[in-house]
Amino acid sequence: MARVNPEFATELTKYGISDFKACYNCGNCTAICSLSTEENSFPREMVRCSTLGLEDDIKASLKPWLCYYCGECSSNCPREAKPGELMMSLRRWLTAAYDWTGLSGLLYKSLPLSITAFVLVAAAVIGFSISEGFNLEKIMHVGHYFEMIAIAAVFAIILLPNLIRMWYFVILKPKVKVPFKKYVTSLGELFIHMFTQKRSLGCDDNQVRWFEHFILVIGYLALLFTTVFLDWFSATNLFVIVLGYVESAIIFVVTIDFVSSRIKKKKEVSKNSQPSDWFFVIWLLLMGLTAFIVRMFIDIHIIENNIWMYLFHLIVLAQWALIIVPFGKWTHFLYRSFAMYMAKLKEA
Ligand code: SF4
Ligand code: SF4
Repeated sequence: MARVNPEFATELTKYGISDFKACYNCGNCTAICSLSTEENSFPREMVRCSTLGLEDDIKASLKPWLCYYCGECSSNCPREAKPGELMMSLRRWLTAAYDWTGLSGLLYKSLPLSITAFVLVAAAVIGFSISEGFNLEKIMHVGHYFEMIAIAAVFAIILLPNLIRMWYFVILKPKVKVPFKKYVTSLGELFIHMFTQKRSLGCDDNQVRWFEHFILVIGYLALLFTTVFLDWFSATNLFVIVLGYVESAIIFVVTIDFVSSRIKKKKEVSKNSQPSDWFFVIWLLLMGLTAFIVRMFIDIHIIENNIWMYLFHLIVLAQWALIIVPFGKWTHFLYRSFAMYMAKLKEA
């Protein structure tokens, strides 16, 4: 029997949503959602499960990941119960539920704790630089290897076990039978959604937002490849140097637009930003900007006298890799892609 948690609604408020209990179950939101289907009907059902505290059913559901937060349902809810924002809060709650370390939940729920984590990582980078006597060459060398090791370690120690937990909640625990062959033949679904997020095109008038997300994902992955594998800051190859400039500029320009729409709050989707949303866009923006400036300082030969700029970039990078990627909003990108994959598996 599904476990009922009477405190679930209160718990969910810590993840961003406040007044979803005003819902009187009219179904307008589901009728208006262009991504809701007969087999996967939402968001009304998720509002209902949340009101009743059906925690296990929510953990086993992929529906929060099938929503792309266009905000249409919230704009048309007669009770102003914000079903779109509820779906977003459920994604945050699920991220915490999948995370075996428990840190995602703690960071989502406590802003002081998040700030402390950012400060501690910054202090560690500065402490390391002091111990190295601010030797730029050494710090850049370690910074380069840090990227590689951090990516591998975060994936192996945090993200992979969390994905296995997600699979356990969605497939194994509810005893969904999936033939092994289906795991292999559905892999295409995973990569298509990871790189294109094409499902979001199903939301009305979402082409511009989809395109921005698309070039951001491509720009981000390409910059990661360029800095980690092509060692951009040490590169002498003109093509690699120009490529890095273009990629960091793309990240900077697109995230400027994201930050400005969150400040203006004109669209439903940008009205309810939580600290984790701000951290994500601001750190992405800082990564693009600082990477661009560091490379420029290298090219005009002033980096030796401005080591602070590289340290600033390294702090942003370390905070991104150790806080936002494993425990913050970055994980939504990963879980959503795997949700599409698991939805395909469930079809079997
Ligand atoms: S969330 Fe709003 S639109 Fe959806 S069922 Fe409840 S009252 Fe109706
Ligand atoms: S925010 Fe958009 S995609 Fe998500 S449930 Fe509402 S209408 Fe559907």
